Amino acid sequence: MSEKIVQTAGRESLGEFAPMFAHLNDDVLFGEVWNEEAISVKTRCIITVVSLMASGITDSSLTYHLENAKNHGVSREEIAAIITHATMYVGWPKGWAVFRLAKDVWKEDAAAVTEKEKYQDSIFFPIGESNDAFADYFVGQSFLAPISTEQVPIYNVTFEPGCRNNWHIHKAESGGGQTLICVGGRGYYQEWGKDAVEMTPGSVINIPAGVKHWHGAAPDSWFSHLAIEIPGEETANEWCEPVCEEEYRRLK
Ligand code: MN
Repeated sequence: MSEKIVQTAGRESLGEFAPMFAHLNDDVLFGEVWNEEAISVKTRCIITVVSLMASGITDSSLTYHLENAKNHGVSREEIAAIITHATMYVGWPKGWAVFRLAKDVWKEDAAAVTEKEKYQDSIFFPIGESNDAFADYFVGQSFLAPISTEQVPIYNVTFEPGCRNNWHIHKAESGGGQTLICVGGRGYYQEWGKDAVEMTPGSVINIPAGVKHWHGAAPDSWFSHLAIEIPGEETANEWCEPVCEEEYRRLK
């Protein structure tokens, strides 16, 4: 269930002067149309931005809708691609006008890089590169750094706040499984059917082969663990469903 969109700007600005317009703005446009669930709020935000752009409306209302788009998950890369795409249909000057506003709205995302750098300074092991090879099995952005590639393979896995992997099973005919050692931030490990266990630097978790589980960051913290792959015969990973968003958000 997505959060309910509530709007009061109509009544605040025009409630006295144009009560019907204020009612239509707050109760119908935002109260009903924006809350109709056939398409996501993120998609609605994108449609609205492009509609205003196409109409050449590049005033404070567009800034509001750009901020709304950002707040509903439109990334810097996405908005740049959206505006570029729309520009090809609606005209070059509109593209420039919207980019000037969007650049301001997404400017603090340049600061997000700094958050990662700040976090890097707090841990011994490298954060490494974006974990693209396994991105399909993660919610949010994770990073991977090989620590040992000989004898026992060890990787440092870093999760941005809110990032976690899907439920999965490390399979093996014999031996196998995984050991996790938290080396930074705060996160969770959970076995199927059990409560999640909090992990902080120094926490060690032994995961036998065949046990369904997930691991990842707390909703509000970066998190890193070394993942030690225990040697075994016929080892393979089985990836399952994502962790239920509602249950994850209950974790503090
Ligand atoms: Mn695992």
